[in-house]
Amino acid sequence: MGTADPCKGNIITIDGPAGAGKSTVARLVAERLGYEYLDTGAIYRGITYFLSGRSIRPSEDGNIAHALEECAISIEEGRVFIDGVDVSDKIRSPEIDLAVSAYSALHTVRSFLLQIQRKAASGRKMVAEGRDMGSVVFPEAPIKFYLDASLEVRATRRWRELNAKGINITLEEVRKQVQRRDQLDSERELSPLRVPEDAHIIDTSKRSLDEVVNVILAVIEDQRAC
Ligand code: C5P
Repeated sequence: MGTADPCKGNIITIDGPAGAGKSTVARLVAERLGYEYLDTGAIYRGITYFLSGRSIRPSEDGNIAHALEECAISIEEGRVFIDGVDVSDKIRSPEIDLAVSAYSALHTVRSFLLQIQRKAASGRKMVAEGRDMGSVVFPEAPIKFYLDASLEVRATRRWRELNAKGINITLEEVRKQVQRRDQLDSERELSPLRVPEDAHIIDTSKRSLDEVVNVILAVIEDQRAC
């Protein structure tokens, strides 16, 4: 385990690949603790929606830097707003799934969002969820988790989510997309998806949501009983 003091600090981090269950688990853990919840994937998705909507490609670094200066992105009660417009549902489309990793790999985008994420958490009690929460954004967080699950389980979860929204896509297509996103997110140079050194790893493949939440709460209670 790391040297962070579990009795200090108000940030709990949850990292992991697409479909590991991070968002729902992080939201429920935050609710149970009376903490706020920061979904950083939604922020990367929001930026992707904003840039692709302006037809700015990931290769256009200068244009991205310029566009981001004009981008007012905010999160309120779990909803993502760009220039005051709620884009929370639009950012969950298969198109954004396909595009997000290329924008997320860019230094311009990551450094812009690093400040936003730290500012959002400043002085707050928060459960922060993403790919680099424990490793890069909040390395001093006293309690860190890494959720994982088999590719099959993660792809099936994502496919069900899309189906429930009436999006017509096959499980095989979703499996390929998830696999491709895993690869891009973990092989990129900047802040790749990694298990933070001092994280508790939880495999969610065969666990219900409640079980995962309870395991996390038990670890937190245990670590705090110092
Ligand atoms: O968690 P979610 O699937 O919504 O994340 C969407 C994408 O945002 C990821 O595939 C990854 O490319 C990017 N992301 C990231 N760093 C984070 C959170 C998300 O690069 N902390």
